[in-house]
Amino acid sequence: MNAYKQIAKWGFLAFLIIATIYILRRHNAPTTSEVPYQECTGKIFGTTYKAIYQHPDDLSADIHSRLNEVDASLSMFNPISTLARINKHETDTMDAMMQEVFALAMRVSEATGGAFDCTVAPAVEAWGFGFKNREQITDEKIDSLKQLIGYRNVSMTADGLLKRQIEGVQMDFGAIAKGFGVDKVAELLSTKGVKNMLVEIGGEIIVHGTRADGKPWRIAVQSPTGEGFSAVLSRTETAMATSGNYLNYYVNEAGERVAHTISPFTARPVTHTLLSATVTAPTCAMADAFATAFMVMGVEQAKTVLEEHPALGAYLIYSEGDTLQTFAKNFSLDGK
Ligand code: AMP
Ligand code: MG
Repeated sequence: MNAYKQIAKWGFLAFLIIATIYILRRHNAPTTSEVPYQECTGKIFGTTYKAIYQHPDDLSADIHSRLNEVDASLSMFNPISTLARINKHETDTMDAMMQEVFALAMRVSEATGGAFDCTVAPAVEAWGFGFKNREQITDEKIDSLKQLIGYRNVSMTADGLLKRQIEGVQMDFGAIAKGFGVDKVAELLSTKGVKNMLVEIGGEIIVHGTRADGKPWRIAVQSPTGEGFSAVLSRTETAMATSGNYLNYYVNEAGERVAHTISPFTARPVTHTLLSATVTAPTCAMADAFATAFMVMGVEQAKTVLEEHPALGAYLIYSEGDTLQTFAKNFSLDGK
């Protein structure tokens, strides 16, 4: 009997100690608003990235390593990336990330009638937006570029091998990789339990939740004139990308602006009235790809694609005479 009493006494004591520790711990646990917002910045794909996220720990090492994985797969600027090695015919094996991006690229090519085309690489080079200086562009040169461009010239086997229909095809994921990188960092942060975050690479962006002051994130769409903002939006949930002919261009001998979006149909940089396309989509990679495609298609064709794809939103800025006009679909702006 005594032994039972002893066990009950010590058991009760142990229970009291554990319960007290538990209550004290709960009491001292930081509330959500006390968990700090961390910030991490750096460079990738020849541009900058930024992540702001609410988490007790600094996760920058994980973010850098995830971005290094993306860079090692898709970067044009990394001579040993899978993409660079594929373009040099050193391998035909696409890694897991490239397989994902390739499949999405093909879907967006289909959805945009070929305006998005990852095989524009030789034209990107020829027009001076790759590594080499601009080549002499002759009609013959354009004809030979046109032979090489066409998303149907490439396909992927079930085990992730690239198949080329013709020799000399090269790929460029510059129009999708930034958005894809944003998706991968946002995914990483979500798996770490982060609810409030902003992830941005070279203007392609994901936000979830709220800022440190509890308010929605505010995102500005740059004016295509290069001065100030064209629009500001508050968001608690969005994946968004912008393509603009003011973002990467040079002025040629004739004084014309040559921008980095290439029409796969003419193998020449596009020239039309659409100055900037901002797109929202279920993923940032998808937003990125459609934004580039819209720059190729122009306002009217972009509107048709938007009708066919209700999951997309867009804010298009185009010129009409001397004025700037805008078109918005599934896209609410602050103050409007
Ligand atoms: P973005 O800034 O996302 O519009 O991407 C522009 C980059 O995408 C260019 O610098 C090229 O590397 C590549 N690019 C250009 N034209 C196309 C196109 N029609 N389809 C896919 N990628 C393209
Ligand atoms: Mg893009």
